[in-house]
Amino acid sequence: MFHKILIANRGEIALRVLRAAKELGIKTVVVHSTADADAMHVRLADESVCIGPPPSRESYLNIHQIVAACEITGADAVHPGYGFLSENAKFADILAAHHITFIGPSADHIRTMGDKIEAKRTAKRLGIPVVPGSDGAISDEREAKRLAAEIGYPVIIKASAGGGGRGMKVARTEADLVEALHTARTEAGAAFGDDSVYIEKFLEKPRHIELQVFGDGSGKGVHLGERDCSLQRRHQKVWEEAGSPALNAEERARIGEICANAVAELGYSGAGTIEFLYENGEFYFIEMNTRLQVEHPVTEAITGLDLVHEQIRVASGGGLSINQANVKFRGHAIECRINAEDPRTFMPSPGTITHFHTPGGLGVRVDSGVYSGYRIPPYYDSLIGKLIVHGRNRVECMMRLRRALGEFVVDGIKTTLPLFQDLVGNSDIANGDYDIHWLEKYLAQSAD
Ligand code: ADP
Repeated sequence: MFHKILIANRGEIALRVLRAAKELGIKTVVVHSTADADAMHVRLADESVCIGPPPSRESYLNIHQIVAACEITGADAVHPGYGFLSENAKFADILAAHHITFIGPSADHIRTMGDKIEAKRTAKRLGIPVVPGSDGAISDEREAKRLAAEIGYPVIIKASAGGGGRGMKVARTEADLVEALHTARTEAGAAFGDDSVYIEKFLEKPRHIELQVFGDGSGKGVHLGERDCSLQRRHQKVWEEAGSPALNAEERARIGEICANAVAELGYSGAGTIEFLYENGEFYFIEMNTRLQVEHPVTEAITGLDLVHEQIRVASGGGLSINQANVKFRGHAIECRINAEDPRTFMPSPGTITHFHTPGGLGVRVDSGVYSGYRIPPYYDSLIGKLIVHGRNRVECMMRLRRALGEFVVDGIKTTLPLFQDLVGNSDIANGDYDIHWLEKYLAQSAD
């Protein structure tokens, strides 16, 4: 087991990892920017190292400073959390060169899944269902037209180096296609320095359903069921559920087995998420994230497993504590991402939290790094906490969520709590009847 873990992140996820390490009796080091000197992860860690000024590029993304912090404190492993350096293969390589363990998959697996064309090819080879489309990058207009006609309109042009929804354009007719191709290429070139694009069938009303997987790195793979993250705004997840209101146990077992086998065959190590669009009973792979996800607590709620414990175990060579046969799904869980944002305009609302009161009781979990008197710095993303609620079934979970939201108080700044208070009373949400466009449409209507 590790002696000391350095946590290369901030906010609620830094605390989340810190708690898991403490439970395992492992010493903790956190790194922080000058803007985060008062942060809760800094207060609770055994040691902390200031690694630079507020901008992420000079602190949380500064590989040299982080490696130096490991050397100074004698940390033998790094947990990257999510975002920042969590899917940076170069970071994993540099740590390895310094004999420090990266708590995550191999640099090669990060690289493969980071390239969307390569990821899709790999998924297909492993028997994972993919969206019909081009086999690789498209070279010219003629090829794009031929492929689009073959696949059938509408189609979507996507950037090979894509991320955050950038470099994606939909074409409904051949006349649209030329322009879509051109804009997608220009956007991709500007955003990622790589203008290669590929083409796939555009699905009109899919759900976003993702499978949580784990590998032990030596050929064992398990799945921990799915999460439904269809409620999104600008491709950002807002509300997540485990399980999906759209799946039954047989469908879960079928897609779960495909994913677990794929992870096993790949020799994948640690936590991963295989993301799909789901429409008319079919799954279509879109990408694999090679890290812990923001929404992992809903999976923890229904499986009773600590995903960070498992990550640490696997990375330290201790293997997985579970087999597929002893993974049991119990009840239903929902997570609301609470952001420091205006609930109508979604403009960031940094500032001082004058009062912070979190709900409690059976089946209620709040993961947050903030407290009364905490000043939210304007430099980072606006997530200030996650409310995770568990019930024996979806109806009980929704009742509990409504109650918990009623208790939650955040004064001094604007938050997205009122949005969740609306959603929990909506009949489509109560019925689980929504797709990836539902929330945008709902917000557009309520703005009228
Ligand atoms: P990124 O890495 O940029 O986030 P993804 O491939 O994960 O890109 O896709 C982001 C979102 O774009 C999806 O959640 C979905 O809303 C939409 N999308 C992507 N591919 C398709 C498709 N083939 N059909 C319909 N929507 C799609």
